[in-house]
Amino acid sequence: MQSGPVGSFPKRCAYCREPFCFSDNQVQALPVGNQFVCNEFCAQALREEAHLAIKRAS
Ligand SMILES: [Zn+2]
Repeated sequence: MQSGPVGSFPKRCAYCREPFCFSDNQVQALPVGNQFVCNEFCAQALREEAHLAIKRAS
């Protein structure tokens, strides 16, 4: 058993749920808050969704 450098890193995009692409042990993911997304589009969408959730709660 090998333990990779990613540890408990999420395997899927927090927004679109697509599995992340791994290349050379590097994951192509963008951090958004305490979550990770696969690209800038998902990052933007997740930020807007979080923003809307705050608005709804108030
Ligand atoms: Zn995504």
